[in-house]
Amino acid sequence: MVNILNVPVSSLSMQETVNFIQERLQKQEQTFAVTANAEIIMMAQNDSAYLELLKRTDIITPDGAGVVWAAKHLGSPVPERVAGYDLFHQLLQLAAKTQKKVYFFGGKPGIAEQAKAKALELYPGLKIAGCRNGYFQTEENETIINDINNSGAEMLFAALGAPKQEFWLDENKAKLHTNLLMGIGGSFDVLSGKTTRAPLWVQKAGLEWLYRLMKEPYRFRRMASTLPQFVLKILFGR
Ligand code: UDP
Repeated sequence: MVNILNVPVSSLSMQETVNFIQERLQKQEQTFAVTANAEIIMMAQNDSAYLELLKRTDIITPDGAGVVWAAKHLGSPVPERVAGYDLFHQLLQLAAKTQKKVYFFGGKPGIAEQAKAKALELYPGLKIAGCRNGYFQTEENETIINDINNSGAEMLFAALGAPKQEFWLDENKAKLHTNLLMGIGGSFDVLSGKTTRAPLWVQKAGLEWLYRLMKEPYRFRRMASTLPQFVLKILFGR
């Protein structure tokens, strides 16, 4: 574990993270997993409720070159980046292997269904017990929770974007019967083919953030202000 600006980030590798979650699923211990990039850590600096929520979760993986760099700079290097999209795939594979039902919650209407079709192609035997888009009013919460619980799903993937997905999962975790709760941002968009990830060599070079910035320029203002601040805070503690 490494403390990055008060956020406890796990030092587990991808495989160790999957094992950790698998063991907890076997014991039927509810597990709230977060994959944190620099933006999420910066959001938590400006939002104490979000910071407290993150501290209550069961595992926060280092998602992104910035977080991996920060851990190294702080003297507690992590073995590797554990990206949300990659962990999501690993957990779908685990679900197919162990016959645990999953639920896809989030994205624009129809996207979770398209992601489902793709996931079934990739992981034969996978059971996707339900899908639901991520646009809803608070009044619909109960219906959504009932649908997830009635589906018999054990693993819930919520793709509402950060921090909305974490707030929603934290607020409703006591009512949810799923043993895994995990926010996965725009993963259904990628799995469905609506958006693409950076080529592997770009990911390996630690430049996926730059690729996203170029493809989705609306992120520019958000990223341009948070990433340098993150680096400065790590370097100088301010
Ligand atoms: N989204 C949603 N409900 C909302 C807002 C967003 O389901 O109220 C979805 C949106 O369709 C997109 C994802 O959440 O699929 C956010 O993706 P993004 O890549 O912006 O998230 P990040 O990974 O940056 O947190």
